[in-house]
Formats: sequence, C-alpha cells, structure tokens
Amino acid sequence: MKPLIIVMVTWMVLGFSDAAIAAERVPILVYHSIADFAGHGQKELYVTPAHFEMQMRYLRDNGYTMLTFESWQETEHVQKPILVTFDDGYKNNINAYKIFQRLKTDKFLPAATIFAISDFIGWTNRLTAGDLKVLGNSGMFSIQSHTVTHPDLTKAANLEDELKLSKQKIENITGKPVIAISYPYGNTNHRVIQQAKEYYLFGLTTTPGPFIKKGLKEEYLQLPRTYIKYSTSLDEFKKIVQTE
Ligand SMILES: [Zn+2]
Repeated sequence: MKPLIIVMVTWMVLGFSDAAIAAERVPILVYHSIADFAGHGQKELYVTPAHFEMQMRYLRDNGYTMLTFESWQETEHVQKPILVTFDDGYKNNINAYKIFQRLKTDKFLPAATIFAISDFIGWTNRLTAGDLKVLGNSGMFSIQSHTVTHPDLTKAANLEDELKLSKQKIENITGKPVIAISYPYGNTNHRVIQQAKEYYLFGLTTTPGPFIKKGLKEEYLQLPRTYIKYSTSLDEFKKIVQTE
C-alpha cells in the first residue's frame, strides 16, 4: 500500500475502534462507611469490607477501568469506565485502601475519590490529615471536597466559604488540586452551581443513575451518583455498573 493509504487506513481503524469502545454510560458510585455494621448510625450507609471487596473484584475481573475526576477525559477512551466515591471521610475508608492494595495487579489499578468535610478532618471516626496525605499519595485515591461543615448548600448563608475554604484546606493537606465537590445531601440549585463553578470543575449529586453525556451546559456540575448500600446484592451491583 502507498504510505498515504496506510496512514488513512490506520486512522480509520483507530477512529472506529475508539468509537466502538466509548461507553454510553459512566456509572458513578457513592459509598460512605466500609465496615461491619456495629449498630450505630444508618445501616444502609455501611457496606461490609467483604461485600466491598467482592464488588471491586467484580470490576477488576470484568474489564472495568476505575477513574477519578482528574482523569475524567479518559471516560471517553477506556473500556468500561467507572468512578467510585466515598462521602464524609470516614476513618474506615482505610479498609477500602487495604482492599485496593490486595486487588491491585500489573494491569488493574483500583482508584477512588474521597470527599472529605474539611472541618471534620481528624475527628473521631474520620480520616486525619495524615491519613489523607497517605491516601492521596498512594496513587489510588483522590481527595476532594464535601464542604467545610456539611450544610445543605441550597440554604447556606456562607455558601462561598463552604466551597472555597474546604478546597483550600484540602489542597494544603494533600498538595494536590481539588477540582470536585460533593454537595451535602446531594442538594444543589442554580445559585449553588453558579458559585461552585468558580472553584470546581465537577459537582456531585445523589440523583441515581449513570452519567450519560448530553452536551448540556453545566452537566459536569450536576453529576448523578448511585448509592451502594448495605443491602445491595451482587446482582443489583452488576446492573448498576453496566456501561452499555
Ligand atoms: Zn455527606
């Protein structure tokens, strides 16, 4: 073949294969505690380490690519993109780190985002600044913002501080950019989004379902997420994480 034709064929094949693997749906999961339920708080906000490990092993063994918001653009190029997130910065998220270390292989790098409440860092049951540094430097966790004090932002008088100061504090701890915010209780509105986009590229709600790109203005500031609960079975999990 002539060089130009080779170039064109190569371009077409690459072009098509890229389109062929582009996922239609990007599931974004939300967890809170990774621990056995000991009778305190809401049971559905716990996922046992055994269940979590089973779920993550399913992702690994079924060709998923775990991403964080820094690598969001990869959602359009990798096979079966998925984002795993943890809200509230619980100390027991260390259990997820241990599970990730066990599941990591040459071909599979587990990745997840922890949304920490900046004023709660170091409280009993919460990750400390030292923990966040270790997790952030592990190559498997991105530490992002869940505000300063966890208010309903749609009613917060000090909206700008909640957005700005939490970003600053977490960046100071990890030394890495904070580009995503998880809205407490999933609550957001026009005013919150307008303010959030001054500081963040991504905003996370708890509207269930996968992200499906529609090209709408500000769609990245209202990303949906699906809860994985104590009672979520592996069969339910498999349906939630489908990418086509
Ligand atoms: Zn929360």
